[in-house]
Amino acid sequence: MLESVHSVVQKDDTPDTDTTLTHSFDDIKSRLRLETGDTAFRTWIQPIEAVSYRGGTLEIAAPTRFIRDWVRTHYADRIRALFAQSNSGCTRVECIVDAKNNTAPARKDAAQPYEPVVTANENTDAPAEDISSALDARFTFDNFIVGPTNELAHAAALRLAGGEDVNFNPLFLQGGVGLGKTHLMQAIAHKVREASPDKRVIYMSAEKFMYQFVRALRARDTMTFKEQFRAVDILMIDDIQFICGKESTQEEFFHTFNALIDQGKHVVLSADKAPGDLDGLDERLRSRLGMGLVAGIQPGGYDLRLQILESKCALMKRQLPADVLGFLAEKITSNVRELEGALNRLIAHAELINRPVTLATAEELLQDLLRVAERRVTIEDIQRRVAEHYNLRIADILSPRRARPVARPRQIAMYLAKALTQHSLPEIGRKFGGRDHTTIIHGVRKIEELMERDANLAADVDSLRRLIAGAA
Ligand code: ADP
Ligand code: MG
Repeated sequence: MLESVHSVVQKDDTPDTDTTLTHSFDDIKSRLRLETGDTAFRTWIQPIEAVSYRGGTLEIAAPTRFIRDWVRTHYADRIRALFAQSNSGCTRVECIVDAKNNTAPARKDAAQPYEPVVTANENTDAPAEDISSALDARFTFDNFIVGPTNELAHAAALRLAGGEDVNFNPLFLQGGVGLGKTHLMQAIAHKVREASPDKRVIYMSAEKFMYQFVRALRARDTMTFKEQFRAVDILMIDDIQFICGKESTQEEFFHTFNALIDQGKHVVLSADKAPGDLDGLDERLRSRLGMGLVAGIQPGGYDLRLQILESKCALMKRQLPADVLGFLAEKITSNVRELEGALNRLIAHAELINRPVTLATAEELLQDLLRVAERRVTIEDIQRRVAEHYNLRIADILSPRRARPVARPRQIAMYLAKALTQHSLPEIGRKFGGRDHTTIIHGVRKIEELMERDANLAADVDSLRRLIAGAA
């Protein structure tokens, strides 16, 4: 739509306005690079260019709709604020798509068509060609306890992994958080890789799929992107609720998915809702998804929970008294992840004090978890408590500031919001100043990681957790 990007003139049509604008926008970019980090910068900010500044509106251009939408929701406010520091009249930022801007910017070597690799997930350092995510060695069929609420999902997964002819495609695993969807998908991958090493199995999160796709778009190399997916035997994408509402990713996913199914390859997907209940899902995709087998996983009952606890103890070669396990199975009913968390806490404690945990200690140690089951903690409570604890304002927690004294408490608040409330990641993101769910995931993982290495931080988070969960 833009005939010539740089000929757009400003109100005060001086000859060097373009350069002035470009320069001041470059400053903003450098600033944003510091605030967002390199990965986000290369993916979202670097490709943006300033087009014009007129009537208080700064117009910027993104190379694709996808990037434009992202920038609009995530960075437009910040860009406006930064621009307004030197152009006080700036009241709006308008982001448009300019396909001509669809070049990988600042490319040093023109013959090299790729951007430097932008890693989708800071936690994986798998080589670029191995696009499958790393598997958790514990997530095998042997370690999966079957009960009435997950037996269909389990049977379907097992049959597919066994290489038998199955008459369903795709297999759609649907269930709330922590109920074993990821475990089952990875179990398929383990089993297939073991039985037929020549088969190509790709397991990845929808989030990663999305990043890979954006990266391919940026490098203008969607061909390779398509090829690598189409050359697989089994494609598994976890948590596809995350690509809902992201039009271009859905579109690409739909094509990949259709191509695979038409070739008789298997697709396994998971989501927290059934295809019919996923918001923002393309109709064609929804109906195609519904054509396969939708296997739901519901929270199990007491027996399943107890068996899972016993199996986890056996795996860790640890023992807890039977009454304590029974108590856990009775009280922690939300999901298996929480149950496991409680178990791990008791085991850690038993090791510290070097004697078995009694029922009374278990009650005491799990107070917060047990109370949470009864009390509703809000994200606002968490933000307030965390802000107070670190002597910050709630506005700091919500702000885009990346300085560690602010960013770390913010991540702790994200972690606690995930741990203590039932809100989805996108909901949590919205309550943290409109951040994306991927930022929340990153924050949660960061804290999980730090808690393992940093005892002080772990104690801090734990005491906050108790404080918040125990507060009236
Ligand atoms: P989801 O992907 O549905 O959110 P996960 O697959 O990550 O859940 O499961 C959360 C935790 O609970 C994992 O550690 C997993 O091993 C465990 N888990 C869930 N269901 C079972 C089960 N039926 N048997 C054994 N472990 C389970
Ligand atoms: Mg999962």
